Amino acid sequence: MSDSPDPPHTTITRRGLMLVLSSPSGAGKTTISRALLQLDGGLTMSISATTRPPRPGEINGKDYIFLSHDDFDRMVRNSEFLEHAEVFGNFYGTPTAPVQTALAAGHDVLFDVDWQGTQQLRQNARADLVSIFILPPSHDELERRLHTRAQDSEEVVRNRMSKASAEMSHWAEYDYIIVNDVLETSIAKVEAILAAERLRRERQVGLPDFVHELRGE
Ligand code: ADP
Ligand code: 5GP
Repeated sequence: MSDSPDPPHTTITRRGLMLVLSSPSGAGKTTISRALLQLDGGLTMSISATTRPPRPGEINGKDYIFLSHDDFDRMVRNSEFLEHAEVFGNFYGTPTAPVQTALAAGHDVLFDVDWQGTQQLRQNARADLVSIFILPPSHDELERRLHTRAQDSEEVVRNRMSKASAEMSHWAEYDYIIVNDVLETSIAKVEAILAAERLRRERQVGLPDFVHELRGE
């Protein structure tokens, strides 16, 4: 072991970013998101509100904030959502307050929203948004992954395959596109995007003071 002290670690105050991952169902978005949350302590998941009933094992306040239609409508009327949309017959929305608190504290927030939600985030928070679209390597592989996930019936898989084409038509609205072929490579690509986006000048809000001091002003 060396006696030399650790090199000094310079921290510049930074505003957090909003990372959106979208994909057709089965392309691997959930798998990649879980890996990122484990690997990266600076990233937290945004918890959406929804009117859909909880699935077995889902915890209120952790997986979703489960709301009645009336409570959801009240939040819409009070402009408490950064975005909201109807997906597969249920309503989903991103509460604004926790996201703004996290960004101001320099934490990055990961979102699982569909293309409609991403369009609204782009309108409402473009400067904070980094969006990635995950594509499957082929049509057949997407179908295979939907089957291997094994939770869904044949009918659900057919339904998701028919919706995949419509979802994939939105690929060009995203900042980055990743074809999720080899999982580890895809995770590394998202980490590389995150590392570069964190260094953007506009996000390093402590830079003016830092450079001011460097220049001895
Ligand atoms: P999504 O969240 O996009 O619906 P999932 O993350 O649930 O998709 O992935 C669907 C299935 O495909 C899961 O069984 C997952 O383990 C598998 N999978 C994800 N990425 C890959 C990959 N790169 N190679 C092979 N299988 C994958
Ligand atoms: P699920 O009900 O299976 O958890 O999610 C269904 C769909 O709703 C997914 O495509 C997911 O991306 C989308 N979704 C989840 N939360 C939100 C949200 O807050 N806003 C929007 N626009 N979509 C969401």
